[in-house]
Amino acid sequence: MAYLYQADLYYNDCGRAIADRLYLAGQRSDDSDTMPQYVPNGGGEADSPQHCGSGAGCKDAIVLRQKSPITGKRTTYRIGAWLENDLTEAGRAYVREAVRDRQGLCRRLYPRVEGS
Ligand SMILES: [Zn+2]
Repeated sequence: MAYLYQADLYYNDCGRAIADRLYLAGQRSDDSDTMPQYVPNGGGEADSPQHCGSGAGCKDAIVLRQKSPITGKRTTYRIGAWLENDLTEAGRAYVREAVRDRQGLCRRLYPRVEGS
């Protein structure tokens, strides 16, 4: 479930928060350029997993911590919630490859994606 707003996709809570703020300010519109509009299936089938446009500020952000193999320093990453969109064949291949990369975060980010 997602909302389209100004050509970006937002997860439920973030999309609703933007819509509520605009509604309280008197905004009324069926246009996604001026008011978030609900879109099914995480915005639809895509060539990669889609994440909330709020990014690190996402209300449902995915939080991952990774230790650098070089410096040993731990870094915390906040990534916008996955919108659970369907993937094209190219998208599934992208995820399978990303999950195989032992250094990357995708190995932990997409364990549930089909075919990984
Ligand atoms: Zn969000």
